[in-house]
Amino acid sequence: MSAETADAPPLPVPVTGWGRTAPSAARLVRPRTHEEAAAAVRGSGARGSIARGLGRAYGDAAQNAGGAVLDMTGLDRIRRIDAETGVVVCDAGVSLHRLMEVLLPLGWFVPVTPGTRQVTVGGAIGADIHGKNHHVSGSFSRHVLSLELLTADGEVRTALPGTDLFDATAGGMGLTGVILSAELRLHHVETSLMSVDTERAADLDDLMARLTATDHRYRYSVAWIDLLARGAATGRAVLTRGEHAPLDALPPRAARRALEFRPRRLPSAPGLAGLVPDGLLGRTSVTLFNEFWYRRAPRSRTGELQRLPAFFHPLDGVPHWNRIYGRGGFVQYQFVVGYGQEDALRRIVRRIAHHGFPSFLAVLKRFGDGDPGWLSFPVPGWTLALDIPAGLPGLGALLDALDEDVAGAGGRVYLAKDSRLRPELLAAMYPRLDRFRALRAELDPRGVFVSDLSRRLSL
Ligand SMILES: Cc1cc2nc3c(=O)[nH]c(=O)nc-3n(C[C@H](O)[C@H](O)[C@H](O)COP(=O)(O)OP(=O)(O)OC[C@H]3O[C@@H](n4cnc5c(N)ncnc54)[C@H](O)[C@@H]3O)c2cc1C
Repeated sequence: MSAETADAPPLPVPVTGWGRTAPSAARLVRPRTHEEAAAAVRGSGARGSIARGLGRAYGDAAQNAGGAVLDMTGLDRIRRIDAETGVVVCDAGVSLHRLMEVLLPLGWFVPVTPGTRQVTVGGAIGADIHGKNHHVSGSFSRHVLSLELLTADGEVRTALPGTDLFDATAGGMGLTGVILSAELRLHHVETSLMSVDTERAADLDDLMARLTATDHRYRYSVAWIDLLARGAATGRAVLTRGEHAPLDALPPRAARRALEFRPRRLPSAPGLAGLVPDGLLGRTSVTLFNEFWYRRAPRSRTGELQRLPAFFHPLDGVPHWNRIYGRGGFVQYQFVVGYGQEDALRRIVRRIAHHGFPSFLAVLKRFGDGDPGWLSFPVPGWTLALDIPAGLPGLGALLDALDEDVAGAGGRVYLAKDSRLRPELLAAMYPRLDRFRALRAELDPRGVFVSDLSRRLSL
């Protein structure tokens, strides 16, 4: 996908999310200044426009069939860093990767990072992303001190936490306007290494018991879960939990380069895909992989020093890894159910295991308090995310049934991962949806900001 500059005539190009399902054609415009962004919004035309960051939303959130998509990565300036207090002001198109490159040597880290650092600040606010530290730190927007929003009337408004405009924009999937820049509070670190504890859980109940008992001791926590294991092993998992390593935990050689950040890259996935025999992602091979992954993890290990990319972003080492799923792409399904709804979680895990869909990227974690964003995803409870190759027979029906179960348990699915939810379940999942719609109607009466996601779900 390549973008035109704002002053060249843009031609429709196919645009997809990271899952590569449901592409749609849009005019891709790449503004480089706030004025160019405003001009692009003014010239949106009848099918409107939507902001896009690095396209890491799995579904159709940053697509706009027949309209304009504003590629915000051209607005990429870090404007101000206060290295004393740990505050940065940057354009919305700056990636978390870039922030890490610049800020880690100064002893600062982003307050929340998802499983990839290839997301923009605008995308992080638009989806109000969460990380392995949600139970301690909440979602990304909790660390945003202010943001500049270009609204449908062409005005640039400053949105502050605690205001309706802010709470509609945090998690608002780009539908309140285009975020131009943001001021973020950072997290202080002494090193760029992580001190990591790893342990195995024999089944889902064992996993939930371990997470419940000891998650509060860790800033970061996540469990990889084997969704192909059945019977007594259903839900067996490997927990990895950690904290930024303090300087005095490093051996002398590493201490001399304590804040170094030099992520390694492997060959890109098309290259790997050529080496991968057909059917690698079939059930048998993923079962074998999961078995290997579970067994290779230590039963219990504490204080292992890991590089930051290995702990947070292992997949970023393989460019375009999403292509390994082939042309059909893949679906990422992520839901949350509240504490007290453990039976729903057990039922869903058993159902997925019973179907035997080949999923080797499945993670479970606990969320802390819910976030102020009206459409923010996290609520206190259990969240499970899994990748499944698209187009498997029976997949649509299973996920529809899981949606019902999730909604019935008072839970919700994550819009940044979604490509298939039916609109009638949305209001039950997001009780502040009416407020969001009302503010949007007031701010943007002509419906300038639209996406494939917003059309599909009548957001
Ligand atoms: C490997 C991988 C791991 C992931 N792990 C996690 C995770 O742990 N936690 C999590 O929460 N998410 C996770 N995600 C999802 C990802 O963090 C979000 O989808 C994020 O929004 C992507 O940011 P982006 O810059 O690529 O935005 P895009 O995908 O391009 O857009 C996402 C949404 O943000 C809006 N948006 C983008 N820029 C702007 C802007 N300037 N102004 C207004 N709206 C804007 C878009 O309109 C769209 O609705 C993961 C994704 C991948 C591929």
